[in-house]
Amino acid sequence: MPELPEVETVRRTLQELIVGKTISEVTVRLPRILQRPDDPPAFAAMLEGRTFTSVERRGKFLRLVMDGLVLVSHLRMEGRYGLHREGEPLDKHTHVIFRFTDGTELRYTDVRQFGTMHLFAPGEEFAAPPLKKLGLEPLGEGFTPEAFRQALGKRTTKIKPLLLNQEIIVGLGNIYVDEALYAAGIHPERSADALSRADKDRLHAAIVATLASAVDAGGSSIKSYVNGQGEMGMFQHRLKAYGRTGEPCEQCGQPIVKTVVGGRGTHACLRCQKPPRGASQPASSASAAASKRYGQGGRGKNAVKRRLDGDASAE
Ligand SMILES: [Zn+2]
Repeated sequence: MPELPEVETVRRTLQELIVGKTISEVTVRLPRILQRPDDPPAFAAMLEGRTFTSVERRGKFLRLVMDGLVLVSHLRMEGRYGLHREGEPLDKHTHVIFRFTDGTELRYTDVRQFGTMHLFAPGEEFAAPPLKKLGLEPLGEGFTPEAFRQALGKRTTKIKPLLLNQEIIVGLGNIYVDEALYAAGIHPERSADALSRADKDRLHAAIVATLASAVDAGGSSIKSYVNGQGEMGMFQHRLKAYGRTGEPCEQCGQPIVKTVVGGRGTHACLRCQKPPRGASQPASSASAAASKRYGQGGRGKNAVKRRLDGDASAE
């Protein structure tokens, strides 16, 4: 599943590809992608004649802004956008086509069909689902150490599931939560209310640094997106905890262990991230080694999931 840095990379690329283009016609081949309105002719009629003015992001949602209309798009597991010339052969998983007046078209492709699209009058998108209840934007100006401490409040939840909760903070998934907690030296099962002010401030800084670094890495692959190379997000080569089960911690040399926290595979260094009493036990070293060998939850799978944009082509 794409996390914030991947979606931000798609946003930047779309910004370059579609701003200034005017929609002449919309074809919907799979109505279930449409949520608001869910009727394809009504959806198409609202879009035709509009010009894209900017592409924004809220959490993992893209906001494709037009004159007088906003398209809120979530890629979910496998959604991709690609710019094509009119008449190029269609992929069988292409579900929505935005044809432009200049002879190009933006195609939305989604093998898993979990992606969603909502249309709103500008500004109204924030008052309704799916954007209404979203929490702090970690790369936004409002994400101060104080705002983060307030969002955590006095909750007694374990810190990892709390960071995955999109109503608290948006855009963090399993990979970047493990990375940020590792960078901050905080065990994923520490209770949020047991964290000191210094812990929270260190975690705040780690979240910002981890995401910013991943966005930079993703940004560097924009060229490959346009060229249709299909691979994006070089950040997996910089991961220090996620997917490194059995490999030595870069700070202390002790092997990274994998546990399950809140149903999610979790990676940590138990020396640098002191576990609280009663923390989950890592799997045996034998199964950890096997998991590493077969890339379970590791880089192999991760690399496949990151292929968000395989069918994008040059203008
Ligand atoms: Zn360590």
